[in-house]
Amino acid sequence: MATVTPMMVQYLRIKAEYQDAFLFFRLGDFYELFYDDAKKAAKELEITLTARGKGDDRIPMCGVPHHASELYISQLIEKGYKVAVCEQTEDPSQAKGVVRREVVQVITPGTVMEGKAVGAKENNYLLSVTPFEGNEFGLAAADMTTGELLVTTVTDFTDLVNEMSGFRPREVIISSTFSEEKREELKRNLRVTLSFEDHTEPVEEGMALVEGLSDGKVKETCFQLISYLKRTTMRSLDHLQQARFYLPQEFMSMDVHSKRNLELVETLREKKKQGSLLWVLDRTETAMGGRMLKQWIERPLLNRQTIEQRHELVGKLFDDFFARETLKEQLQGVYDLERLSGRVAFGNVNGRDLIQLKKSLEKTPAIFETTSSLNSDYGQSLIDGVEVCEELRQLLEDSIEENCPISITDGGLIKEGYSSQLDEYRDAMKNGKAWIASLEKQEKEVTGIRSLKVGFNKVFGYYIEVTRPNLPQLPEGRYERKQTLSNAERFITEELKEKETLILEAEEKSEKLEYELFMKIREQVKPFIRPLQQLANVISTFDVLQSFAEVAERNHYVKPELQTAGDVVIREARHPVVEKMIDEGVYIANDIILNEDRELLLITGPNMAGKSTYMRQLALISIMAQVGCYIPANEAKLLVFDQIFTRIGAADDLAQGQSTFMVEMLETKHAVSKATRNSLILLDEIGRGTSTYDGMSLAQAIIEYIHDDIGAKTLFSTHYHELTTLEAALPRLKNVHVSAKEENGAVVFLHKVIDGAADRSYGIYVAELADLPAKLISRAKVILAKFEQDQSEMKDYQSRMAETNLANEKQAQEETEAFFETKAHDEPQQLTLFQEEAASVEKKQTEKMKNYQEKVLAELSSANLLHMSPIEAIQMLDKLQRKLKR
Ligand code: ADP
Repeated sequence: MATVTPMMVQYLRIKAEYQDAFLFFRLGDFYELFYDDAKKAAKELEITLTARGKGDDRIPMCGVPHHASELYISQLIEKGYKVAVCEQTEDPSQAKGVVRREVVQVITPGTVMEGKAVGAKENNYLLSVTPFEGNEFGLAAADMTTGELLVTTVTDFTDLVNEMSGFRPREVIISSTFSEEKREELKRNLRVTLSFEDHTEPVEEGMALVEGLSDGKVKETCFQLISYLKRTTMRSLDHLQQARFYLPQEFMSMDVHSKRNLELVETLREKKKQGSLLWVLDRTETAMGGRMLKQWIERPLLNRQTIEQRHELVGKLFDDFFARETLKEQLQGVYDLERLSGRVAFGNVNGRDLIQLKKSLEKTPAIFETTSSLNSDYGQSLIDGVEVCEELRQLLEDSIEENCPISITDGGLIKEGYSSQLDEYRDAMKNGKAWIASLEKQEKEVTGIRSLKVGFNKVFGYYIEVTRPNLPQLPEGRYERKQTLSNAERFITEELKEKETLILEAEEKSEKLEYELFMKIREQVKPFIRPLQQLANVISTFDVLQSFAEVAERNHYVKPELQTAGDVVIREARHPVVEKMIDEGVYIANDIILNEDRELLLITGPNMAGKSTYMRQLALISIMAQVGCYIPANEAKLLVFDQIFTRIGAADDLAQGQSTFMVEMLETKHAVSKATRNSLILLDEIGRGTSTYDGMSLAQAIIEYIHDDIGAKTLFSTHYHELTTLEAALPRLKNVHVSAKEENGAVVFLHKVIDGAADRSYGIYVAELADLPAKLISRAKVILAKFEQDQSEMKDYQSRMAETNLANEKQAQEETEAFFETKAHDEPQQLTLFQEEAASVEKKQTEKMKNYQEKVLAELSSANLLHMSPIEAIQMLDKLQRKLKR
């Protein structure tokens, strides 16, 4: 029978409260993990799994030294786990029985404050969601490292997930009432750690934070978040800013998949910044500017005036090279004010942090001066009313030693002249040390022992050392013996002892005083947290806008003209990322024109021609424009898009175990149900994941639906050439194609987008380019030739497709039959003729055909074309044509 020691009883009791976290259980100099925690941690951290106890009592165990724990903890957090840190909360030597232990902090992916898990140019948002009646949700987002706290409400779960995705959270807090299905959806779409909190009642710590909120629902969500933070961080939440309510409708809406597909802040496959839009646009000089840029890219604006304000300031910075260079240099000297103020509030700021704060504040007036000199209304409005925190700068200047150590307990933090008491201690130390230094010289002279020296060690304090051979030279009774070494004797004198006591006391007192003073200064910095956060916000904005100006100049971007409704006319548009990935000057620019006559572009062309690049470039250009950046084109008139929907690529859906086709349909549903006239829809090769006819029918139906019922600006690429006939039926659809030519049996992509449909597909040539075996390629060519021979069947299908305005195909068939049947009954003598010649089936067929031909001709000549829409005309032609083919 296994016996459990009292300490393990304590462990199990504490572990029971922290089921979802690794319990780091402090045992002397180690944090130990037991049972399943130990097995899992040993694997994740690649540390040795051992055991405690023997035989039946063996308990799996592993441990990490407490001084290295930060590293191991951040590794676990990085992987999405939580860690509960359990400390010994009484002196083990004083403890009766088992030492008292308590969890002092739970570190989670959303609450981690430092270490590898917190990237400098990344926000680390922790989200909290509360469900309400009518499919409504409260959403709160907090970044513990910067103190930002945002709240909103969203109706509809899919919209909620999309809104949440904009924060790229690592952890989401939900109530335990969330269904399993919804939990799965959150995990799948957001790839987050889920945490639970059911407390939504007001909590003391949160009252000030929710002060500005009027909606009771978002207050509940805030309290849920704060309750969770209280329970995990177990520290002050002073640095959290008052919750700011925002409306998701203030920003362009994009769903999770669209954001991923467009590779806004990281690439789809490798999840790297390089190759993303952020990579191209990021020339920010500060970490906080980097974070702001990322937020902006995730949330393009909708308000034209606000966007234009940003453009205006970018323009000024673009035009004034010298001001821009000066600003860049000034920004380089600014540290992460947001996170520094976060550390001030969290209580873990050190001397060096305060020096960074001071240095940043020193730059502020100059930054404001430079931006003022730009004569930008918007720039000036940002500066007006923002405190430069001169008082704080002065305090730090007067108090903190420039080259202070990281430690706040070993002295060396406080500047001379700040505290007279401290200066006295320091003088005492200095004088004492000077006296000691002179002692050596004096004693050498008196004794004539040239090797005599005065030294110090921690155990014995100050001493006079005389080597053994010189001992006889020493006047009797001059010194008091203190310590004997193998080759020397160490001595002390009354006076030296006195000075030593003085120095050591002064040292101890000054260290203690320095620590106290530092703590006071830290408290004095606290009231500046809010102004510092404001200042950080303004400086970050300048940083992002200078980055835009810098990028615009380097990459030859232009300022777009914006309108809230109407056409899109972009001359010589380029894809901002692709043009950077290929050799300079190789990218082929293309016009993108969308207006009343061409709302929907059907793009054909061979694989690899540049269809999806063309589509993406419109989305990226629009996003760039709406975040306030210039764009890669020669000239542009843009529409402020309210939403962008994309269905491009499927790489990551597979990884999530979803059927590609199902994802394709879900995303399409999302697009067609939410898009408006002012939205942009990009659909890339829709319908590929199912059989040809199936896919083609769906593709056509989707196009028609968008054309007839939504009117959103749409780019639709397809390899179904059959769909290009739709141009005749849908007045606002235009065919365009990406050109390619064949040269010496190989395909050459011209990447030029031209009006009209592509004349053929070049799939086999692309396969050849990809170096598929020659045998396979030649076989494909034979098969293709055979298919091409048999085109009539496809043509038949094609015309049937154009007819689908009729409720269903069968009905159309029946109607056609019925039409000819009645005509036949109208002319009984011909029927008789058929009956009489029944012996010759062939002849009968021929006659029938002739008959039909005549009827078709009659029908055609009597048709009133002027009263027909193009689609009706095509339908009629199709009916007649099919009858002829029978
Ligand atoms: P498709 O969607 O037609 O299969 P892509 O848009 O994926 O083709 O383009 C394939 C490749 O062609 C891109 O990765 C890029 O390297 C190149 N490309 C596309 N458009 C252009 C362009 N306008 N100028 C130069 N290269 C381009």
